[in-house]
Amino acid sequence: MYKSRRKFLQHGAMILPAISMITSCSSQEEEKATTAPIVVSTWDSGLAVNKIAWEILKNKGKAIDAVEKGANSIENTINCCVGLGGNPDRDGHVTLDACIMDENYNCGSVAFLEKIKNPISVARKIMETTPHVMLVGEGAYQFAISNGFKSESDQLSADASKEYKKWLVKSEYKPVINIEKQQGKVNNHAAPAKLEDGSFNHDTMGLLALDTQLNLSGACTTSGMGFKMRGRVGDSPIIGGGLYVDNEIGAATSSGQGEEVIRICGTHLVVEYMRMGKSPHEACKLAIERLVKINPVKAKTFQVGFLALNKKGECGAYAVLPGFAYSVTKGDEGGQVFQSESYFKD
Ligand code: ASP
Repeated sequence: MYKSRRKFLQHGAMILPAISMITSCSSQEEEKATTAPIVVSTWDSGLAVNKIAWEILKNKGKAIDAVEKGANSIENTINCCVGLGGNPDRDGHVTLDACIMDENYNCGSVAFLEKIKNPISVARKIMETTPHVMLVGEGAYQFAISNGFKSESDQLSADASKEYKKWLVKSEYKPVINIEKQQGKVNNHAAPAKLEDGSFNHDTMGLLALDTQLNLSGACTTSGMGFKMRGRVGDSPIIGGGLYVDNEIGAATSSGQGEEVIRICGTHLVVEYMRMGKSPHEACKLAIERLVKINPVKAKTFQVGFLALNKKGECGAYAVLPGFAYSVTKGDEGGQVFQSESYFKD
């Protein structure tokens, strides 16, 4: 979350360069084959989320419960980018995307879900009680209601309302397939993600956990890109896009411009690189390089960050641009926030 991230930095919390985390994970690996349990999540706001997940993991709970409860905790707070307090689409409605995946390739997903506080739990319900993976829009809403989820007001949070009014002044959004795209050049058809101060108006919460049974699970939840076109769905509810878990190998999640992640099946790609023997950091880096290679000029205009955790409990991340942070908790010491390395250095 951009706001919470800034606040966090202002309060002087320790943010370490990713290299120190890679070192610490590697040395842990030498000492002991496996670092478990462990939970990692996107952004500095992940630290509080990890704390909730950690309570479950440290008591020998299951990774799937840890990631769900962690995701719920941020869905229940007011912030720009996750849950009903998030920024709305360009028509003023908050629409939520989420997915979850366990250690047995079971997965559940919701997209374009409105008025439901905990989309990740609806995704889990779909995973556990239906033969399907994904429900969207009105159907997802009806499913949620019929399973005891409460219908909430669609009133914007005070923060979101303020941001929306600000956005309405210019209403900058060009959802057109422009001539440049047809010519294979820069295509800026997505919502303008960059804010005036250079930050981005989106930040998804992705969590990955390895429990004491050495099982992996993951969750990904978001209100998506702020001021998006109505009906737009990003990578976050897409299995293999915003999240992928392969219990033999590892798990990955993403945050950033969803369209870019979808076109390379981003998190599935990261896991496949780990299957080829790459470390989580190397795997994320290779996936980002693949993304940048598609259009290096355009790549400077958007942010994507990948975060990965392997079966040994090693973790790593990589982003297109500087600024992507992630949180790692593997003990009662409270966890740490790390700054990811990035393809472009400024
Ligand atoms: N990945 C999200 C999306 O494209 C945005 C984000 O990470 O905030 O909807």
